[in-house]
Amino acid sequence: PSPDSVALEARGVVVSFGGNRALDGVAMTAEKGRITGLIGPNGAGKSTLFDVVCGLRKPSAGRVLMDGRDVTRLGPMRRARFGLARTFQRLELFGRLSVRDNLLVAAELGPERRRAERAVTEILDRLDLAGSADSPADTLPTGVARLVEVGRAMAVRPRLLLLDEPAAGQDGEETERFAALLRSLAGDGTAVVLVEHDMGLVMSVCDEVHVLDLGKVIAVGPPAEIRRDEKVLAAYLGE
Ligand code: ADP
Ligand code: MG
Repeated sequence: PSPDSVALEARGVVVSFGGNRALDGVAMTAEKGRITGLIGPNGAGKSTLFDVVCGLRKPSAGRVLMDGRDVTRLGPMRRARFGLARTFQRLELFGRLSVRDNLLVAAELGPERRRAERAVTEILDRLDLAGSADSPADTLPTGVARLVEVGRAMAVRPRLLLLDEPAAGQDGEETERFAALLRSLAGDGTAVVLVEHDMGLVMSVCDEVHVLDLGKVIAVGPPAEIRRDEKVLAAYLGE
């Protein structure tokens, strides 16, 4: 990849919880306009790496660069302003607020109310959520709530979007539509990083896949190579 196309670079990231090295010198990159998969068995360190990238957890070693700029010392708000958005494995919607208001809260981080409302309407259409716009978030089935969370991340117009198991709880048809959405986000130039257990989705949408196991990257490559990598198969057999 050319330096201009790299939206995210993590280098040598180390995070320990007591004696447990959750991340043990992890490197990864994500490019603009591409979908980068981050997979690995439970406890591999995927969500912890997202926490480090978005500034919620300080690594004891290593660096995080966004668009070539070292953001390691910056907090989550500053990184958000540089164009980073994420979703959480555990849903973090405002349950009592409607779908539309959940998105508006995020869109209004931008400068203008009118523009925020237009942007939200556009996102609701794009996600096929217009029919649920006025439903309180806590009344939604999980698959739909996950879409709303993705919509909320989209509302800040991120250049780098981290998605932590966004398809969990979606049925087959929802997942297929979600795959199309991911492609269209990448088509807009967004660098998408996808943590996902649905291997069908990962293998069909990702341009490149990083595999974590026990805090280390054990493989990087296109889906076709990753799916027959012996180390990767062995890591999943142990699950
Ligand atoms: P994944 O998202 O790949 O399932 P996590 O990043 O959640 O993995 O966890 C990686 C490792 O770090 C696991 O061993 C987990 O138990 C540990 N861990 C994660 N968060 C914490 C925490 N807040 N306190 C202590 N240990 C944690
Ligand atoms: Mg996780």
